[in-house]
Amino acid sequence: MATMRSPIHIELPTPFMVGPVNTFLLKQDEPVLIDCGLNLPMTHDALTAGLAQHDLQVSDIKHIVITHAHVDHMGAANWICERSDAEVWVSDLVYDWAIDITEMWEDRVGFMSEIVAKTGLSAEDQQNVLSYFRSVPELWDSVPSERLRKFSLDDVLEMGGGQWQVLHLPGHATHQTGFWNAENGWLFSADCLLPRTPVPVIEFDQDVPTQRSLGLPLHLKSLERLAALPVNCVFPGHGEPFGDHRGVIASQIGRIQRRKEQCFDHVAAGVDTLPALTDKMYGHYPSAGRFTGLSTIVGYLDLLRAENRVVENEVDGVWHYSLQA
Ligand SMILES: [Zn+2]
Repeated sequence: MATMRSPIHIELPTPFMVGPVNTFLLKQDEPVLIDCGLNLPMTHDALTAGLAQHDLQVSDIKHIVITHAHVDHMGAANWICERSDAEVWVSDLVYDWAIDITEMWEDRVGFMSEIVAKTGLSAEDQQNVLSYFRSVPELWDSVPSERLRKFSLDDVLEMGGGQWQVLHLPGHATHQTGFWNAENGWLFSADCLLPRTPVPVIEFDQDVPTQRSLGLPLHLKSLERLAALPVNCVFPGHGEPFGDHRGVIASQIGRIQRRKEQCFDHVAAGVDTLPALTDKMYGHYPSAGRFTGLSTIVGYLDLLRAENRVVENEVDGVWHYSLQA
């Protein structure tokens, strides 16, 4: 078997707090991109320049493989399609987002409006969060059906001269997948395993759209699944590729457990709403990043509720937390 060439890392800028997002180029056989950034001129320029360093143009791209339906990972897919004959490969769970982001995003905003009302944030903070959500489709184009190809959650994809096992990795997003090449021990980890612990984004459960998915409990299970694999190099959705995935996973799980205990101590001391817990645990965040902190606290509370240590009660339409009797 021919030796596979290592994935080429290209960073693409985003306007978000997370900083740049990665695309990885597999140059062997037909050029493939794993994820592709959001739909802004600065991203297009960075992609064009990154490809040029490897003697390629956007028009040479044959496949774009998407890890998860977040704007920074797939917003520019259609822009690339319009300049190439690329096909966009998405999992069964991402297909609806890829083909009609306007409709899916309406559902997402509707769901988030209900969630945000229950958080107990001030009216102004609620409006800020929702106006951010409403602006996302400006950076995200739908892809026409004739360009889309579906893969299943246990598929094996042929790309870059090798075989990649699809891994369903819910947590940061319910519909998130990674891709693992056993031959080399290479892992495209999406935003499941990053150099920094990812946020459990508040989303609806795709099976039961009226319910919130339990992001952080799912995330811990996905990390355990990755820790069991022999991996030599992780190619993450953000940040530099890295090794020692078991060390990184152990330290991130340790941190999550420590922060969860801090959250428990605050609830035990009578801090009983999400904004009050956010002040205690993420008071140092700039206001634009506060909802990220709040989302992570929802994750800690999900873990504590699963352990039967904390209960959630709705009082006048707002969630309150107390110790389980
Ligand atoms: Zn991301």
